Amino acid sequence: MSASLTLTRADLIRSANFIAGLWSEGTSTRLDVTNPATGAVITSVPDSGAVEARAALDAAHAAFATWRKVPAKQRAAIIKRWNDLVLAHQDDLGALISMEQGKPLAEGKGEVTYAASYIEWFGEEATRMNGEVIPAPVSGRRMLALKEPVGVVAAITPWNFPAAMIARKIAPALAAGCTVVCKPAEDTPLTSLALVQLAHEAGVPAGVLNIVTASRQNTPAVVDVWLDDGRVRKITFTGSTPVGKHLARRSADTLKKLSLELGGNAPFIVFDDADLDAAVDGLMAAKFRNGGQTCVCPNRVFVHRSVFDAFAAKLAGKVAALKVGPASDPASQIGPMINDRAVEKIERHVQDAVAKGAKVLTGGQRLTHLGPNYYAPTVLGGADARMACACEETFGPVAPLTVFDDEAEVIAQANDTPFGLAGYFYSQNVRRIWRVADALETGIVGINEGALAAEAAPFGGVKESGYGREGSTHGLDDYLHTKYVCQGQL
Ligand code: NAD
Repeated sequence: MSASLTLTRADLIRSANFIAGLWSEGTSTRLDVTNPATGAVITSVPDSGAVEARAALDAAHAAFATWRKVPAKQRAAIIKRWNDLVLAHQDDLGALISMEQGKPLAEGKGEVTYAASYIEWFGEEATRMNGEVIPAPVSGRRMLALKEPVGVVAAITPWNFPAAMIARKIAPALAAGCTVVCKPAEDTPLTSLALVQLAHEAGVPAGVLNIVTASRQNTPAVVDVWLDDGRVRKITFTGSTPVGKHLARRSADTLKKLSLELGGNAPFIVFDDADLDAAVDGLMAAKFRNGGQTCVCPNRVFVHRSVFDAFAAKLAGKVAALKVGPASDPASQIGPMINDRAVEKIERHVQDAVAKGAKVLTGGQRLTHLGPNYYAPTVLGGADARMACACEETFGPVAPLTVFDDEAEVIAQANDTPFGLAGYFYSQNVRRIWRVADALETGIVGINEGALAAEAAPFGGVKESGYGREGSTHGLDDYLHTKYVCQGQL
C-alpha cells in the first residue's frame, strides 16, 4: 500500500527566497531539490550568492530597530499563531519533510509536532525574559540587569531534521526580539521555506525573518557575507564539526556570539545489571530513528561481557525485523539515506570494521533493489576502537557492539573521543547510575532512556561537539545579552 506524499496546500511548496517580506526568485541559477527515495526532482530553489545574502541582511538589520521594540506579549502572540499554523498543517509539513528528507511519514509528522513544541515553548517564554534588580552596596543607587536581544542572527541548519532545526533556532530568536537571516541545508530547503510562509501568515513582520537558499558550492558565498558583516551579532549553527570550527574562526574578526551544535560520537553502555529488554528498546529508539541520521545517535555500543550474547541476539532479531522502504509506504520504519555520499560513508565504515575483525550479525549491505540510497539496518559484533565506526560518526543505521569487563574501563573508552554530545547507559544500580552520569564527558546523559530531547531541556554538547544550548531558558539566553544599568542619586 502506498501513502500519498502530496500536499493539500500546494502553495506550501515554495521555490524562492523570502527577503523583506516578499518571495523573490532572485537573479541566481537554480538548485534542484530531489526525493532521496527515488532521485526524482520535487522542484528547484534559487542557488543564491552574495547579492541575495546582502539583501536579506539589509532587511533583517532594518527590521531589528522596530521588532525589538514590539512588546513581548505581542511577539508571543505572533509566535503562538505560528505554532497554531504549523500544527494545523502537520500533514502537509510531514509529507514535505518525508519527500525531501526521506524519513517515514509517521516520523515526518512526528517531527512537525516536535518542532512545534519549541515554537510554542519559546513563544510562552517571550513574556518571561525577566532581568534582575540587584541590591545596591550603597544607598541611593538602583542597579539593574536588563535582557536585550543580541541583534541580527544568522541561522545555518542541517538536513536531518529540516523542521526541528529551524524551530529550535528561529523561535527563540523571534521571542528574544532578534531578526533572522537563514540558510537552510541544500538537501532540504523546502520544509524551511514552508515554515517561513506560515510565519509570514502568522504575522511575523516583513524583514524579521529572511531565508536564502544555496547549493553546497555557493553556500560559502552566502554565509561569508554574514560572517564578515558586523551587523550580524550571532551565528547559530547545527552541522558538522569542521564547518562549525570554520564559522568560529571566521566570526572572530567581528566577535559574534556563537551557538554551535556539532557532531557527536555517543557511547551507549549496557551494564551487567541492566534491564536488557529496556536497553534493547532504548537502543532501537536512539539508534534507528531517522535511519541513524541523528546527531545524538549512539555511535558506539559497549556491552558487558556477561550479557553480551543475550543482548546481541535480542538486538539483532529486532533490527533484522525493521522494514526498510520509502516514506510513501506506511509500513516503512527506515527510509533511504539522504544522498549517495551518506551511503558511501556507511559502506566504508562497515567494510573497514569487517576488515579489522568485526562480525556482521545482521544487515551489512546496500539494498539496491529499493533504490540508490538504501542501506540495511546493521548490527556488528566485535567492534573496537581501531575501527572508523568508533572514531567518526557513521550517521546511518549501523550499531557496532564492543564487549567490556569493568566500569572504569568502559568509562575511559566512552570518553576517549574529541566529541561530547550525548551519552547513554542502562543500569539498575543507583550508586553506579550517579557515578557514571557524573563521569561521562557529554552535554547530555540518558539513564535508562533512549529519547532525550525536549523543548524545556537544554540540548547541546561539550568538547568538539560545540557550545551553546537549544531548548529551555538556556536556549533563550543564547539570543540575549545582559545590560547592566546603574542609577545614581536622583
Ligand atoms: P554540514 O556541516 O555539512 O552542513 C550543515 C550546514 O552547513 C548546511 O546548511 C551547509 O550548507 C552549511 N555549510 C556547509 N559548508 C559551509 C561553509 N563552508 N560555510 C558555511 N556553511 C556551510 O552538516 P550536515 O552534513 O548537513 O549535517 C550532519 C552533521 O550535523 C552531523 O555531523 C551531525 O552530527 C550534525 N548535527 C548536529 C546536531 C546537534 O544538535 N549537535 C543536530 C543535527 C545534526
